[in-house]
Amino acid sequence: MRYISTRGQAPALNFEDVLLAGLATDGGLYVPENLPRFTQEEIASWAGLPYHELAFRVMRPFVTGSIPDADFKKILEETYGVFAHSAVAPLRQLNGNEWVLELFHGPTLAFKDFALQLLGRLLDYVLEKRGERVVIVGATSGDTGSAAIEGCKHCENVDIFILHPHNRVSEVQRRQMTTIFGENIHNIAIEGNFDDCQEMVKASFADQGFLKGTRLVAVNSINWARIMAQIVYYFHAALQLGGPARSVAFSVPTGNFGDIFAGYLARNMGLPINQLIVATNRNDILHRFMSGNQYVKETLHATLSPSMDIMVSSNFERLLFDLHGRNGAAIAGLMDSFKQGGGFSVEQERWTEARKLFDSLAVDDEQTCETIAEVFEQTGEVLDPHTAIGVKAARECRRSLDIPMVILGTAHPVKFPDAVEKAGVGKALELPAHLSDLFERDERCTVLPNDLKAVQAFVSQHGNRGKPL
Ligand SMILES: *Cc1c(COP(=O)(O)O)cnc(C)c1O
Repeated sequence: MRYISTRGQAPALNFEDVLLAGLATDGGLYVPENLPRFTQEEIASWAGLPYHELAFRVMRPFVTGSIPDADFKKILEETYGVFAHSAVAPLRQLNGNEWVLELFHGPTLAFKDFALQLLGRLLDYVLEKRGERVVIVGATSGDTGSAAIEGCKHCENVDIFILHPHNRVSEVQRRQMTTIFGENIHNIAIEGNFDDCQEMVKASFADQGFLKGTRLVAVNSINWARIMAQIVYYFHAALQLGGPARSVAFSVPTGNFGDIFAGYLARNMGLPINQLIVATNRNDILHRFMSGNQYVKETLHATLSPSMDIMVSSNFERLLFDLHGRNGAAIAGLMDSFKQGGGFSVEQERWTEARKLFDSLAVDDEQTCETIAEVFEQTGEVLDPHTAIGVKAARECRRSLDIPMVILGTAHPVKFPDAVEKAGVGKALELPAHLSDLFERDERCTVLPNDLKAVQAFVSQHGNRGKPL
């Protein structure tokens, strides 16, 4: 499989190189040159497969030419073997034909484990083969950091530095990062906010001199491997609900357009999906585009669903590329005008096409809490705030009651106790067994000033399993 850039000017890469690439050299994002397409018979034949075997069938075309089947199978069996639930991604019924796909049974209790557990193993496999080492520098407002650290902690050939804003992530989220020890794991608390952290990561990609020739790898959802891994659970859910003979609908809490884009790809790969709902919080650039053809940056609002607090949606460019007939020059133009003026609209027919593909809703904190309370009353289930946004959007935007509606359950509620408390749910939440002593564990973390040079000096001092690069 070959991968091309959404801006049309960077060289095409194979899977291995795309895994190790951040942005394409032209500033675009990599997408498969040709999306695989499965027949209904083929998809139907996968019913009842264990998760890792289904994952093999769905993802195999994407890695062909880079990873032999036997090796890929082994990697997938290990990856999904660490999940705490035997079904890996179980479906839980809420109402009649309404289901939550529980994607929070991985090590860090959010869906990001599905991709980052795989990414860590793929990196180690490819780097071992090449005899190379890489450094990861990533920024997190919460979930990505812990999932990336858990995914890479056993990697022989990866040193990982995760920047989080000092005193601005929840205690559970911080401890999930700082209690994992290893000579290749480095937590850095920046005396600044999340944007400061992200700016430092961007600046480090732009000028890699401080790495002395070591390659820098991206762990955010611009990395194609993350999107790829997320396609699988759409097939997994549909197969359990009568697909592909029957069509299924999905409601997806999203900020960066990563998870929902994976659903869009699943549909293009042949999975009958009747409806895809984009569910955002008050940071609603995606909803404003879907409802009014305005893709415009606005100020950031801190919400009860912090993992979707974004101003721009990095993966949206991948959809725009398809909407524009895969014309890289057109996307480069749009992104340029976005950079200069902070916004754009697309041509009417392209927007109409987007409207056919997606429904959308923005849900504020108050509605989020109401939904948590409502679902608790109806079912006794406690939802996390991100999942609650998905439920609210599903109930508002649903097109057909006959078609099963699946809401992606993106995190375990124990990660977001504030929202659950604000919703007035009086049920004590317990950490799952593997994290039950989280509050007693020792922590390791370095506090650094909001200063790029200080961070880069730290990375080059410790980037080779704790030793200088
Ligand atoms: C990261 C995250 C999201 C949003 O994911 P996207 O990549 O923006 O689609 C939603 N919920 C939780 C709990 C997350 O951690």
